[in-house]
Amino acid sequence: MATMPPLTSMMDNNPYSSLLSHIDSATSYIRLTEDERNVITSPVKELKVHLPVIMDSGQIEVFEGYRVIHSTNLGPSKGGIRFSMGLHLDEVRALASWMSLKCAVTGIPFGGAKGGIKVDPMTMSNGELERLTRAYVSALEDTFGPYKDIPAPDIGTNSQVMAWIVDEYERLKGDPSPGVVTGKPIEAGGSAERDQATGRGVMVSTVAALKSIGLQPEQSTAIVQGFGNVGSVSALLLQKQGISVVGISDISGGYYNPDGIDVEDAIAYAQNNNGSLVGYSNAKYVDADSFLTLQADVLIPAALENQITINNADQIKAKLIVEGANGPTTADADPILTQKGVLVVPDILANAGGVTVSYFEWLQNVNNYHWSESHVNRSAEKTIQDAFETVYQTAVEFKTNLRNAAYILSLQKLSQAVKKEKAKSFKKRRRRRLYQKRMRLKQ
Ligand code: GLU
Repeated sequence: MATMPPLTSMMDNNPYSSLLSHIDSATSYIRLTEDERNVITSPVKELKVHLPVIMDSGQIEVFEGYRVIHSTNLGPSKGGIRFSMGLHLDEVRALASWMSLKCAVTGIPFGGAKGGIKVDPMTMSNGELERLTRAYVSALEDTFGPYKDIPAPDIGTNSQVMAWIVDEYERLKGDPSPGVVTGKPIEAGGSAERDQATGRGVMVSTVAALKSIGLQPEQSTAIVQGFGNVGSVSALLLQKQGISVVGISDISGGYYNPDGIDVEDAIAYAQNNNGSLVGYSNAKYVDADSFLTLQADVLIPAALENQITINNADQIKAKLIVEGANGPTTADADPILTQKGVLVVPDILANAGGVTVSYFEWLQNVNNYHWSESHVNRSAEKTIQDAFETVYQTAVEFKTNLRNAAYILSLQKLSQAVKKEKAKSFKKRRRRRLYQKRMRLKQ
């Protein structure tokens, strides 16, 4: 029998420990049997692959890749592919589990998965990246499939990488199969608005959360950590709602302007500067550590895991945190924020806009249909708004914070699915026993 991951008490900034701790926290409000908890905390499949790639120099380098499938009982598994040097199995495992919870909380009929390659994509040529991506698909050819496991972009990957994935998969299988991956370029079967989708979800949850604490967007200020796809689009859409974005940041540091930053100008600057904000002079430079504690109503962590920790949670000035990234708050920082009265919209709700539009893209692919930009946006906004309201009501009902509420809802759905599977296999076993008994009687 597989051993059950231990109940967590001491935290170590390992995203998987954080996840387990969040589960433990939510299960003080609802009952999960030991069997259910055991199934939910044990990913169904964890794959590690080694990918030999011919580099431009002619030498062969071997890269380490992962795909973790956390659950498939609510539908095919779904989740992005991350290219990052710091990638490790526990991180992929946590990210895969968060995908299951994210889909459950938004009512998307998918399970959860995540994958990635240990690589710094900035150091690779386009040709090397393409060969690496194709090698990854070829190693996981039998895992992926439009009704099995469907990847998407994540940190370090983009629509071009998704185009290589679908192309390689179709080449190997010999059939058109656009539903095998989402986040593709429009020309390769992608959906309108997919690239804006995570940021749009962050915007919708920010506006809803602001209203819940009696603040109007037009009177509010925000700082956004991270200026990749999620951070930059979130900042832009928040600004369009009338929120003054006073701080933005990326790996080069933070940029602060209490009068508001022109986000379009900053995006254009980064685009002409190799994607980096380094040297951005329309705001004052602040170091990365002090950035999170700047004065603003809203803080959007939209970069990596483990940014808000016991070391800085106490100094955060924002009244509202909306988690654009996956796992930006460590589990031990959560109670500090709750105690300070900071409202936290958890990642599995706040950044679910991406997988929501991925689901719409998949629906368009498997039905050979096209949705307009406005249809995609309206449907995505409604999905996130409805999920926010359900989570909020659950938080009121259980007298708890939004993270516990989101976990309560998704764990309830996942444990229902586990119960159903158990009942199915029980029935099957019973039928088999009866059949064997009849056969014995015949002899
Ligand atoms: N990588 C995104 C996430 O973490 C999107 C996943 C998807 O669209 O499948 O939610």
